Amino acid sequence: MQRKKTSARKIGASDDRRPLGTDVTKIRGSTPTPPKKSPLPQKLAPAQRFPIPGDDGILVCPVGGVGRIGMNWTLYGHAGRWILVDAGSAFVKNATENGCFMPDPRSLRDVLPRLDGLLVTHAHEDHIGAIHHLWPRIGCPIFATPFAATLLKGRLAEKGAQGKAGFRIFKPGDSFKVGPFSIETVPITHSVPECVAMAIETKAGRIFHTGDWKFDPDPLLGNPTDFDRLKRVGDRGVLAMLCDSTNAERDARISSESEVAANLAEVFRTRRGKIAISCFATNLARLTAICRAARMTGRKVALAGRSLEKAEAAGAEVGLLDDRHVILSDSRHLKGLDPHEILLVCTGTQGEERAALAKLARGENWRLPDIGPGDTVIHSARAIPGNEAAIEEVMKRFRARHVEVLMGLDGDKPLHVTGHASRGELKTMYELIRPQFAIPVHGEAAHLAAHGALSLECGARTATLTEEGDVLRVTRNGVERVTKIRIRHLAALESSGEKLVPFEGRVGMMATIPAASVAKAPVIAVRRRGRAARPGSRKAA
Ligand SMILES: [Zn+2]
Ligand SMILES: [Zn+2]
Repeated sequence: MQRKKTSARKIGASDDRRPLGTDVTKIRGSTPTPPKKSPLPQKLAPAQRFPIPGDDGILVCPVGGVGRIGMNWTLYGHAGRWILVDAGSAFVKNATENGCFMPDPRSLRDVLPRLDGLLVTHAHEDHIGAIHHLWPRIGCPIFATPFAATLLKGRLAEKGAQGKAGFRIFKPGDSFKVGPFSIETVPITHSVPECVAMAIETKAGRIFHTGDWKFDPDPLLGNPTDFDRLKRVGDRGVLAMLCDSTNAERDARISSESEVAANLAEVFRTRRGKIAISCFATNLARLTAICRAARMTGRKVALAGRSLEKAEAAGAEVGLLDDRHVILSDSRHLKGLDPHEILLVCTGTQGEERAALAKLARGENWRLPDIGPGDTVIHSARAIPGNEAAIEEVMKRFRARHVEVLMGLDGDKPLHVTGHASRGELKTMYELIRPQFAIPVHGEAAHLAAHGALSLECGARTATLTEEGDVLRVTRNGVERVTKIRIRHLAALESSGEKLVPFEGRVGMMATIPAASVAKAPVIAVRRRGRAARPGSRKAA
């Protein structure tokens, strides 16, 4: 591999000169003017190079998804080779731009020639949203379940890149080899069908990557969690666990998808007007719940929004949906029905201006029914941090028209359930997997810190809090930071059309871990300026 002489190589030296102590929860988005010819920056500024993974440990690099919600990318390196688990996108959050952003593959240029596979845990945007934008620039085989692969193939076909991506389809529970890694997938429940956790085994030990998950006793659709399998993974010994932190601050019991289904049916029955409901497109269990409740209460269901239509078609294609799933072929067919027979499922849970729910609120799409006094709008999804104001803007329009708005609750009955584990479930996961070392991922700084402290209570020897671009080395002796890679970002914006433009999508400095939790046990705080870096050969890491 060619290496440029200009690159800074010293371990622990970072070219990233951001001040310490900035607010990690705030994502500073700004859009530089797109360059005239190429959508990509021509040169990376000098930055640390990725080490070449050795045989005696496993390198772990959260390229995205720590210190923020979204854009989950995790690299694992061993014996000279790498795998990437998930390649998602994050929302662009600023007043003037709509779109998403993702890591620039040029930041991974040392890794790409040695990358044996992209492994997809599940079909959420924050895990797959970058793939159709970046292929074939990444260009390794994509390992995905039938549902995720069907969605991805559709998107790649639209971009004209379908034939360029090689898919290896696996079923939840399958095991397979990718380079020097043996992968065992474990079915786990979340808010999308065919979700898996992954045990990643190498000659240097085993890492467990949970992906997104919760323990839903009655998920309505798809595989239940395979608890025996989780325990067997734990029995064989796990060095480190990278686990979902989204709800690590929440104690509340998480209700199941079936409970939501019953509550939705009650709302559909007791309201006499039209009902519009917004949910995440890939939440096919929620769509199933809506269809069942509609059938029981004499309502007809139509979909508004392309991503919903695509997810429903993909679900039907891979056999996830059954004949109880009756949906009108066109939302215009609702128009001749009585109000109490009308049920419209919409995209736009995050207040996106061009999505169906916002159009419905503005009354600007003639294909959709008019929503007014006596009608009900249900928000059956969570607000991704940063999108609250946009969502509220849409709901305000409905309220101004005297529409009843139910934000995830009818009184105290949930009309939405989170897809992420709360503290009680996290404890159960630690009891099953029993990792020696915890590396909390998928969450903002506060979530990671809360999860780190909890993991120590659950018996982990250390908890390592990371920033995006940190390269950690996991061995039987512990977790150490080897170096930090500067990760650049590209955005797909409405204003930039098909082009990807450079984008500053960084998070700030990791917040300090609450002193109380540090005092109890040895939390390793991975710091920006190389204090946790260890001497040793970059190549032999
Ligand atoms: Zn997810
Ligand atoms: Zn996620």
